Amino acid sequence: MSKKLDIYRVKEGDKVSLSKLNTTDDALFDGDKDEATTKLDEIRDDIAELQGRLYAEGKQRLLVVLQAMDTAGKDSTIRDVFKETNPNGVHVVAFGRPSSEELAHDYLWRVHQHAPIKGGIQIFNRSHYEDVLVVRVSELVPDKQWKRRYGHIRAWEQMLIDEGTTIVKFFLNISKDEQKERLQERLDVREKNWKFETGDIAVRARWDDYMEAYEDAMSQTSTEQAPWHIIPSDKRWYRKLAVAEIVRETLRDLDPQFPPPEVGLDQIVLD
Ligand code: ADP
Repeated sequence: MSKKLDIYRVKEGDKVSLSKLNTTDDALFDGDKDEATTKLDEIRDDIAELQGRLYAEGKQRLLVVLQAMDTAGKDSTIRDVFKETNPNGVHVVAFGRPSSEELAHDYLWRVHQHAPIKGGIQIFNRSHYEDVLVVRVSELVPDKQWKRRYGHIRAWEQMLIDEGTTIVKFFLNISKDEQKERLQERLDVREKNWKFETGDIAVRARWDDYMEAYEDAMSQTSTEQAPWHIIPSDKRWYRKLAVAEIVRETLRDLDPQFPPPEVGLDQIVLD
């Protein structure tokens, strides 16, 4: 990964303090929105090209985890970063409230079934991290139970890595003020009303508790091989650009190659 992109990476062992991090930034790109759009187009084309190779190669797997407070832009990041890719090889799964069947199993059961396949990119829109976030803040299990989960998650992710998966995790970091504006928009704009959920207000009311839960989760589970990136997300286009750059760089590091042609292909004559 290029040095430049490291600025948002949580190094293994770092203690994350979200109050010290900016939710707006221009470190990766200080142009305007129009220039950013052009740049994003280029990056998207590269991502599509690399994803095509990954799929053709059929050996490596990529898992992209997205977590954020409501309105931070998980859905639109997925849309905008992976827009040009081939849906045959890119899969998205959203993890909402667990069903009764899911709750009857251990918390990783529903997640593991969606781990990426060879040649595939799997995107988690929310993830197993909810089991140390909402589950912690809403006190859905006793403290000692969620506290043990950091260790499970590290071990589970390490197992995926050992078996050939690359993992990259993003926290889209918005400010509480920005969230207020976006929620207000959902109330005011008819086309956005459908996105408003009254339950989001209760989550917002626990903002500080969520920040603490995120800080602990990222401090405990950002590893060299499965790093968290904290993306300043108050500016939508900057957030997209930053995530896209890191995804492109991750794919470049994988360096997927088209498989060698079958022996004798050059001898074949079609009639
Ligand atoms: P989003 O808000 O991401 O657009 P939804 O409106 O479907 O998607 O919300 C998903 C909800 O499911 C969130 O409130 C989230 O906290 C909740 N959720 C996800 N995973 C769990 C879990 N393991 N336990 C309890 N609630 C969960």
